[in-house]
Amino acid sequence: MTTIKTYIEENKDRFLDELFELIRIPSISSIAAHKDDMYKAAAYWKKMLLQAGADKAEVYETEGNPVTYAEKIIDAALPTVLVYAHMDVMPVDPLELWKSPPFEPEIRDGKIWARGADDDKGQSFMHAKAFEYLVKNDLLKVNVKFMIEGEEEVGSPNLPKWCKDNKAMLDADIILVSDTGMIAPDIPSITTGLRGLSYWEVEVTGPNRDLHSGLFGASVANPINVLSKMIASMTDENNHITIPGFYDDVMEVSAKERELLAKAPFDVEEYKKAIDVEELAGEKGYSPTENTGIRPSFDICGIWGGYTGEGAKTVLPSKAYAKVSTRLVPNQDNVKISKLFKEHFESIAPKSVKVKVTPLHGGQGYVCPIDLPAYKAAEKALIDTYGKRPVPVRSGGSIPIISSFEEILGIKSVLMGFGLESDAIHSPNENFPLEQFYNGIESLVSFYKHFAEMNK
Ligand SMILES: [Zn+2]
Repeated sequence: MTTIKTYIEENKDRFLDELFELIRIPSISSIAAHKDDMYKAAAYWKKMLLQAGADKAEVYETEGNPVTYAEKIIDAALPTVLVYAHMDVMPVDPLELWKSPPFEPEIRDGKIWARGADDDKGQSFMHAKAFEYLVKNDLLKVNVKFMIEGEEEVGSPNLPKWCKDNKAMLDADIILVSDTGMIAPDIPSITTGLRGLSYWEVEVTGPNRDLHSGLFGASVANPINVLSKMIASMTDENNHITIPGFYDDVMEVSAKERELLAKAPFDVEEYKKAIDVEELAGEKGYSPTENTGIRPSFDICGIWGGYTGEGAKTVLPSKAYAKVSTRLVPNQDNVKISKLFKEHFESIAPKSVKVKVTPLHGGQGYVCPIDLPAYKAAEKALIDTYGKRPVPVRSGGSIPIISSFEEILGIKSVLMGFGLESDAIHSPNENFPLEQFYNGIESLVSFYKHFAEMNK
């Protein structure tokens, strides 16, 4: 039997040629002029998955960009893995900062350099090749489905509906995703949590027009003063959020998991130095990584109003605005939080102003239990390749589509990512180390082996 290591060694050049062909398609989802490229990428995925051994593959239309779906059903009674990935990429500007053109992939210093090298063309391609190896060597012991979308970088606006419409087709036991990173090649990790989000714009109106601050100041409420006080009252001296009911549904993390999470290396001094702050803030009683990973946060993302031009203009403005967001943790419902914030914000407004709260968007958080069989399989797979037990990591960021999968399809996701911090995703000079690329393919092959064994 050909081992995966040998298979990679023998097919290296072809793998890279095929990946580069995919990378050369400038599938930027946020730019309408690239619409055709989205179809090219979708067709390329269809061709690639059929060649790799899928029974069938199809490009599906949505209101927006297409989705490529493929499957290999060995036996309906066996467990099924649904691979989710995205074929779209971020824009490339500022172009002048790239050392080589973003859509002409190049290998330098043992890395692939191109837009999409990691996010998510390089990472998704590893799934296609792991699948190819398993099929060609008759080692696939579970059913596999692929769902490759074209709108992840613009927030997956059409995928939830597509999932609803194709729920039966997408039926699976687990969703496997490689669109995140690991701490370092010598510290493998798996993302087990993502935060949710609620976002609002608030408008505070005082008098019906800008007033002379000398003639009216002190007798008429200044909406910027009022807004500042209202916002300041949203957190207390321990950085605890004061919105009534805000913490009601927060899922507390067990001492055992907190202990595991603490194993991720974190240098507080380096962290402070990198962002040039003398002291960190955050909710009392939690470490910095816990504050970003397992606790919610409240932030003003922008605030404006009144006179902001050159020099001084004495004015008592009519209006003040702010963009406000909270990052939520698993089990907090963004719709409920959105309502709680609106009610609270309106209730604390003095009668001297009018307040308008407009919800902008939201998403649910996500948590992957570390005792889930598929998580265990991923853990074993990374031990096989990296020789170390991976650290579970709660990411502070949000991937709303992952929680949508759980809501719509009722399926958990395992986020088995191979990206590194230095990959510069979304930035100029995106890259992906070849070693991670090959190790990724190897780990995914192991995942299928362990996942099949666990479900015997
Ligand atoms: Zn991505």
